[in-house]
Order: sequence, then structure tokens, then C-alpha cells
Amino acid sequence: MAFIMFVLFLLASASLAKAQETRSNITLRSSLSPTSNYSSWLSPSGLYAFGFYPQGQGYAVGIFLAGILPRTVIWTVNRDHPPVSADATVLFTNDGRLILRSSQGQETSITSATGSTYSASMLDSGNFVLYDPKGSVLWQSFDYPTDTLLPTQRLLAGQEIISSISATNHSTGLFRLKMQHDGNLVQYPVNTPDTAPYAYYATSTGGWGDNFSLNFDVDGHLFLLNTTGYVITHVTSGRFPTNSANYIFRIDFDGLMRLYSYDLNQKGNWSVKWSSTDDKCNPKGLCGLNAFCVKNDQEANCLCLPGFDFVEPGNWAAGCERNFTVETCKTGDAGASYNFQAVDYTEWEDDSYSVVSSTDKDGCKQACSEDCNCEAALYNGGICRKQRLPLRYGRILTTDATSALIKVGIAKPINANQNKEEVTRMDILLLSLSLLAFGFVMMAISLVIICKNNMWTYQRICNKIEVSLAKDQAPRLFTYAALELVTDSFKEQIGRGSFGTVYKGVIGEKMVAVKRLDKLLAEGEREFQTEVEVIGRTHHRNLVRLLGYCMEGTNRLLVYEYMSNGSLASILFKSPERRPFWEERMEIARDIARGVLYLHEECETQIIHCDIKPQNILMDENRAKISDFGLAKLLNADQTRTFTGIRGTRGYVAPEWHRNQPVTVKADVYSFGIMLLEIICCRRNMELDFPEREAILEEWVCECFWNGEIGKLTGDEKVDEDELKAAIKVALWCISDDPMLRPSMKRVLLMLEGSAEIPMPPIPSSSICTV
Ligand code: ATP
Repeated sequence: MAFIMFVLFLLASASLAKAQETRSNITLRSSLSPTSNYSSWLSPSGLYAFGFYPQGQGYAVGIFLAGILPRTVIWTVNRDHPPVSADATVLFTNDGRLILRSSQGQETSITSATGSTYSASMLDSGNFVLYDPKGSVLWQSFDYPTDTLLPTQRLLAGQEIISSISATNHSTGLFRLKMQHDGNLVQYPVNTPDTAPYAYYATSTGGWGDNFSLNFDVDGHLFLLNTTGYVITHVTSGRFPTNSANYIFRIDFDGLMRLYSYDLNQKGNWSVKWSSTDDKCNPKGLCGLNAFCVKNDQEANCLCLPGFDFVEPGNWAAGCERNFTVETCKTGDAGASYNFQAVDYTEWEDDSYSVVSSTDKDGCKQACSEDCNCEAALYNGGICRKQRLPLRYGRILTTDATSALIKVGIAKPINANQNKEEVTRMDILLLSLSLLAFGFVMMAISLVIICKNNMWTYQRICNKIEVSLAKDQAPRLFTYAALELVTDSFKEQIGRGSFGTVYKGVIGEKMVAVKRLDKLLAEGEREFQTEVEVIGRTHHRNLVRLLGYCMEGTNRLLVYEYMSNGSLASILFKSPERRPFWEERMEIARDIARGVLYLHEECETQIIHCDIKPQNILMDENRAKISDFGLAKLLNADQTRTFTGIRGTRGYVAPEWHRNQPVTVKADVYSFGIMLLEIICCRRNMELDFPEREAILEEWVCECFWNGEIGKLTGDEKVDEDELKAAIKVALWCISDDPMLRPSMKRVLLMLEGSAEIPMPPIPSSSICTV
């Protein structure tokens, strides 16, 4: 068998020699420029080209398959240098140097060739070669691979290939494949030592001998050879047909090695003939720091540890950072500022500084909480490994039972940039509120004394209080009679919801909306109490303010500030003539985002609204405000996730509600995303009268966006394309199926305000739309 392999290798070498015979002749003083007809030198058959290709905003120099689109780049000159501009040139100088000259005259060597170079050639094997006057090879690109090997190219002992950043950016990426001197062919993340704990693929041939090489036959066969030509092991298992097929072997940007073939006769796409693994979460470091990889429909997906958010949503490699400030562990009761959240069935890099054995999970948490250095603990089978952050190389496994126990701040998540100044302002606010409260208590005592002493005075003053509004922020308790007076015996109805009827009223000069709950079922009762409790503690310019309430006998009423322009649903969907312009609509979206951000991050108790939709956004003359906290789910600061029955309205409800998964503030982000699509397109999320492909808004937007046809979404309305695209990207991020991928409301607002970059949203699954 080994003999047959050796013969085949000789045949492959012979074919290399043949390829080298047919070579294009590039003479001294030849040059290339990106935008002229001479932007590349072709191999004799025209299959490969050496020259300029578009990269980012400019051009890079390298070798690519000239006859096949989309462009497949095989090798890149100085891959980490920035792209050059259109007036750069490649020169094969009179004195035999191959250089890249920028428009400012700056020169960079393309090769490391020494000696008197006389000619160059782009061969049909994909090898670019420099020769001396006698025709001997002085330098060849095959000796300096980047991320790709071509048939007949070899990876020698000590050499490695390194993945690119992405399919289109060929700069140095995250993963490498090394042919080690000990005979092992191993994959590691970049910037790690060549040692076993970092490896995620190996041929396990370490120690079998020195100076092995990875070889690649023209039929797609990859194997290790020793110096005597003996086959040590096969990397790709079988031989593939050679007829008119072209192969490349690449370490892809996702960390997997793949063998691709392209049928030159069929002109089809590259197809994968072999890959190093099917497990896309296998490459270590795919998810960056403090994140772990989960497979979703066989695709890799990165999630942050509990208490962490993505540094740059959309850029997994950037990892995750804490979304709370770290309390001083030593002050007070150790561990009192934290609790533990577990991520089960995981695997991580073991970088423990201390190991506690013979313990259980609770003991492990206890050991970590008592130790200020411990930021996370990895628990598996009675062993507790205390670690500092960051955690690396995390992924979910179904077999290993390691639980990552993460110390998470109990205090309400706050912004990292919240500074001392704000804390001081808070102190002043608290002091003022205490003084105000003291004043009110004194006033109440005086009133009781006055009322007791003088019945007439009591009648006059107390009646006046019943129909006036509180001067402070807290909602006021009204009598039923007072609200009858306010609404002129509930004369003018403004609307009806599922729990009651809303009437117009006047208190002093101020218009109010009085909601009368009409059924005192348990649900309505709970609704009422929640609404008073929740809204009573909130105050924000983008939330409809609760001015008062009445609990008298079986009567339950709520008094709100009056919103003169009705609901967002009515202005978006009902009357086209009232429809706000694009700029106004975007301001409405930002207003709502501010309101939701307040509920999620800025008010005393974190609130998930649970029913964000255009019907629950009310408009006054100036701005949009969020109403209807009836469904709001109050959360304690340490209960950022909750399992609960489905709340909210069909079409706006996040997928995790249906999957019985924990529901977090990200459920509101999802509903906001659906509503943002409605605001962008001025149509409901489901329009059954529309043509089938347009009926579901998120699917229609997805199709238009990924097909570059976003103009279809706004019809005749003229909207700046960049602004439209940006708004759609934000909405698509918000409706990501995975809650962890959805941005926080803070980031949504920054993106809508144009203060944060908006990366391309994730490629949607085929159930949403085909890209
Ligand atoms: P549901 O309770 O089923 O979610 P809803 O939110 O529309 O429905 P309500 O909050 O009772 O129910 O409101 C009913 C209607 O009353 C609203 O659609 C709106 O037109 C009107 N309305 C409610 N609050 C106000 C307000 N503060 N100012 C002006 N109109 C209001």
C-alpha cells in the first residue's frame, strides 16, 4: 500500500514538473496596476492569476482563481497590510526586485527572493515562481502558504497555515494548522503555545518520526509522508475523481479545515469533499472571551456568560464583557453582592488557581463566594476549580457534565460609565425626596387637626383634594364620586381594552384618561394591583404617567395623563393622511426605545413590559409614550430571568415564550424589533390580504434586505437608503431568534441615534427567508 502511495506521489510530482513546463514568462520591467487592463498576470491556461484584487475599500495583491467567480483567493501578499489605493503598482524592476509601490512612492517587497532574479511565471498549478537567468527557482509562493494549499503544494515540518478573518478579508484570522517537527499535524487557536491543551484537531502522529510533511495530490488526497516517501497517515480518507476537477485545501475562517472541489466543466460552485469535523463549535476560541458556543441547527452560535453582554454584537471574536460593575468583595458580608448563575454541560479551558475536591455544587459556590479572587468556578464530579476571568474556549457538550458557576452581581445592572458624579446626584435627590416626604407628613398631620376641629373646613379642603392632582410624582387615591365628577359621569368613551373602558375627563385645567376596569375577576384584580404598583414607581417622559387610582368597594379605576393623538397603531395603520414622515417615525422609534431602556435599566425595579406593540404606544402633541403596564412582569434585581406563562400579543411575542425558556428583557427587545419593522414600513406585521410572500412582515423584510431590494419596503415614500438600511439592520438584530444575540435596549438606542456601529445582522435561518 505504501508503495502504491509512493508511486502516486511520484506521479503527482511529475504532474507538477509538467505544469512548470508550461509557464508564462513575466520579464523584467513588467508592471501591474489595479484599474488598468494589466491588473494581473495569468497562468498559461488562464486559471490562476497573480495581481490586484478588490479588498475592502482598496486593493490587495495575491494569487486567485481567475476563471471562477466569486473570486477565490489562494494566497495574499503581506496579508496584514492595509489595502492599497487604485494608483498603486506592482513592478518587476530592472534589477530583478518584485515590489508593490504605493501612490506616495513607498515600496514594499513582495517576495523574499535573494540573488539575481531574471524572470517570473504564474504557473497553472497556482504557484508563482521567480527564476534566475539559468531558469532555476529562486523563490516560489508555494513555500509561503497563507490559509490555502493547492494540489502538489506541501506543508513542511515547522510550517503552518493560518485562517483568514472572514471569507472576504484575508488578513490573519483566529486559527492555525501546524505541521509540527514531532510529526503531529495539529490545529490550534492563533497566539497559543504548541501544546496539547490548546489543540482541537490532531493526526495524533506526534513522536512517530521527524520531518514529516503534509502532501496534497491532484486527486484531492491529503496525507503525511516521511522523508523516505513512506505514507505515515491519510488526512482525507479517499481519492476523488480527477476529471476536470480542481481542488483546494483551506483552513477556513471558522476554524474548520475543508477540502473543496470545483468541476471546471460544470461551472458549478465549490463543493466540500471533506472537512476536519462536523462540529462547528469544535474550534477553540471561536466565541472570544467569556462566551461559549452552542450548536443551533448544526450552526455554531456564541452566547455570553450570565451577567455579560457582547462587546460588539455581531463580532463573536470580540467576546463578552460584564454588564454590571464589580462591587468591592471585601466590604461587608463576603459574597453578599453576588449570586451564582450556572451554565451546565460545558467545557472550558482549565486555568484554575485553586482546586477544591470532594465537594458538591453548593459547596463549590460557597468556596468561590468566600474567596474574593474567585470569579467563576468549574464544577465536575465533586471537583471544584476556582478561576479568575476571563473564561475561554467555552462550548456546550452533551456528555461532559462540567457546570460553569459564574459570580453575577445582584445589584441592578448599571452602566460601566456611570460615574461618581451620578452617584452624588443620586444622594442629593434622595435627600430632597426625604425632605419633601417630611414636609408632606407634617402637612397631613396639620390637615387631620384642621379637619377634626372644623367640619366645614374639612368638607371644603377634602373635596378640593379629591379632584386635584398630586404635586409630587406619586399617584393619588381618588374617591369614586370624584372620578364620576371628573368624567362627567363617564360620558365620553375614548377606547376599550381587554380589561376595561377608557373615558375622557378633566381635572382642573388638565385632561385625563380614566380607565374603569369592568370585571373584578382575579386576573383583573391582579392586573390592577400590578399596574398601580409598577407605574406608581416609574417616571419617564416616554412613559404614560399614572396620576391616580380609585379602590372603593368593587370599583377599580386608573387615572392617566391624557394622550391627545391616540395610539401609534391608529396613526400608522388606519389613516394614510395622518401617517408621520420618515424622520418623525424614527423619532417615535427612538422615543419608545428610551422608554423601554428606562424600564429595563434605569428604574428602581427592572420591568419587562411584556406587551410592546403599536396599540400600547400612545401619542401626545410632542412625543410617543409607552402605556399599559398591566402585563408588566415585575422582577427583583436578582431575578433577571423568569419562567412564566405566555404574556403579550401574538406576532410580537418572542420565540422563547413558546419554548418555555427563561424570559428576560430581551423578550421586549424582540417585540420592539417587530414594532420597528412596522414603523419603518407603516404596515401591520401580518397582512393576510397581501401577496403570500409579503404577508408576514419580518419574512418580507428579510427577503428584501438580503436581496438588496429594501426600496420595496417603503413604497412611494422617498427615504434615504442608508438610514433605511440602518433601521432595518437594527430591527433584524432585535428579532434574532436567540435572545442572547439581540442587543440590549441601550445599544438599540445608540444604534438608532447613529452613535453605535450597526454590524450586518446574522444570516437568517431558511425558515425565515432564503438569502
Ligand atoms: P389591551 O388592554 O387589550 O392590551 P389596549 O392597550 O388598547 O388593549 P387600554 O389600555 O384599555 O387597552 O386602552 C384602550 C384604548 O383607550 C387605547 O387604544 C387608546 O385609544 C385609549 N387610551 C388608553 N389610554 C389613554 C390615554 N392615556 N390617553 C388617551 N387615550 C387612551
